[in-house]
Amino acid sequence: MMKLLFATQNKGKMKEVVELFSSKGIEVLTLIGLEDIPDVIEDCDTFEGNAKKKADAFYDVFRIPVLADDSGLAVDQLDGAPGVYSARYAGEDSTDEKNNKKLLNELTKYPKPHIARFVCCAVYFDGKSYISSHGTIEGQIIDLPRGENGFGYDPLFLPDGFNQTTAELSLIDKNKISHRAKAFSELAKELSKIKK
Ligand code: IMP
Repeated sequence: MMKLLFATQNKGKMKEVVELFSSKGIEVLTLIGLEDIPDVIEDCDTFEGNAKKKADAFYDVFRIPVLADDSGLAVDQLDGAPGVYSARYAGEDSTDEKNNKKLLNELTKYPKPHIARFVCCAVYFDGKSYISSHGTIEGQIIDLPRGENGFGYDPLFLPDGFNQTTAELSLIDKNKISHRAKAFSELAKELSKIKK
């Protein structure tokens, strides 16, 4: 069975990606229990640049094929912000709650709907070649947080065609439609071609 290390400390992402690949017969190892985890500064101005930077750093340390991703929320009325700054929108060491508050604050001056999308770039790197893929999910930002599942901006994100936020959907349902699911499913498809 193919084994890949997923370079993230975000428990929400870990759950989503382990679940996604296990259904495709690829074992995803997480960083839980590993030491000397590199601290990668995500200072590129694209999701792909940051994902590749993470993949490089983790391959250098652990020397096994790695998966990495970078993702975020892009709001049309904010010209694509918070974008690559999603995790630290309200400042370094920010929390999901502070980021969500800042987002709602920024949006008070604009009329509804607040059209937005989650974007993800997923990357595989085996020390020689990279494979990258992208995924998005369209929706809008609502006024009041709803739901306990998921992470980040999920309680404020209502995907098109749904009455539940991505924090109200179950993990399995979110995984059917999410930006990360789309990017990693595409990547898994490419990887299963290499395996053959
Ligand atoms: P990353 O770990 O650098 O990819 O940062 C991702 C940040 O974007 C997270 O901390 C969240 O704020 C936001 N984000 C990315 N994907 C999601 C998602 O599926 N739901 C909610 N927020 C997300």
